[in-house]
Amino acid sequence: MSIGQIALNGTYLSAGGLKDGRLELPRLANENTLAVEAEFAYAPAGEGLRRVNGPADGSAYAYSKTHPAGASEIFCCFDQPDLRAPFTVSVHAPGGWSCRANAPLAGRPAAGGPGLWRFAPTTPLAPSLFSVCAGPFYGPVLACERDRGQPLPVTLWALAPAADLFDSETILELVRQPLRYYERALGVPYPYGKCDLVFVPGFPALAFSAPGLITAQDTVLQARERQPACYLAAVIAHELAHAWFGGLVGMRRRDDTWLIEAITTYLSRAALAETWPGTTPWAAATSVTLPDHAYARNAAAIRQLETLIGWRAVMLGLGSLLQRHPHSAATKDDLVRCWSQATGRDLRTWAAETLIPAACPEDRCTG
Ligand SMILES: [Zn+2]
Repeated sequence: MSIGQIALNGTYLSAGGLKDGRLELPRLANENTLAVEAEFAYAPAGEGLRRVNGPADGSAYAYSKTHPAGASEIFCCFDQPDLRAPFTVSVHAPGGWSCRANAPLAGRPAAGGPGLWRFAPTTPLAPSLFSVCAGPFYGPVLACERDRGQPLPVTLWALAPAADLFDSETILELVRQPLRYYERALGVPYPYGKCDLVFVPGFPALAFSAPGLITAQDTVLQARERQPACYLAAVIAHELAHAWFGGLVGMRRRDDTWLIEAITTYLSRAALAETWPGTTPWAAATSVTLPDHAYARNAAAIRQLETLIGWRAVMLGLGSLLQRHPHSAATKDDLVRCWSQATGRDLRTWAAETLIPAACPEDRCTG
């Protein structure tokens, strides 16, 4: 990392104050403006911004991985889940590349040329929800019909030769069905202006769902031969559910992230069971084959709540949490309060006895 200038409320600070990647901010006012010019190196692996050579023809591509705590490998930030702010992103990219980020595109260079890709300001995001992806990706831009409102623009993107595996209409249907289910069940529309779905070779998690931009290993496109028919559907349904849980509302404490995964798994399996006739995601033999199996034990606590208060009250409570804490972070107590009010009974004792994280054997899906 190379620091250019640091200015706090118009006063320049010495870059020598940077220790272990942290910068002490002296003499803070009630409101503060911090401007940092810096260059960060590409990450060799894991979290940060990676630039890698493409598998097919040696061409390069780049993607970010910020979750759960890698944003500070890319830019200066307060990397806390409860501190959100709008991001305005621009990307200088070589000719032949395209770029995607959380927000819709606001400007781009001439087709095929090098230059600046500009994006609209995002909704308030935690740094761990920042995402950008760039390279010689290609694929269609589709319109996803919804029960209400304008069709949602959905981009499907991959490098060659994975892009040739696209069955665009099938993948669009795998987005459309859970999208409509979530909007209907939660009573809250999809919170972002578009959804980009990018299949990245070697992505260091099965998938990651940032607001407006889902990245997934491109191997999920080939999974049909090795996995059950609903495997790709389960990946997409799970990541799409994160637009609401993890995206629109997050957990204030990192220790409660398991709850986001539990809700997302519960929701996506409910959508799968309804939209794929004959699919039984909770059957033991099926569950182990699904990509969200690591979270199934935690999601079972919400299924147990469903038997106690009913599907409608579970969804009412979840919808209420989204409406009370949009684009911000909530607590486990906030969630239990929403469920209690939805059903008219005090669920605090149930939550204390049941809403406890089970060990997650592996981090197969983040964000
Ligand atoms: Zn997840």
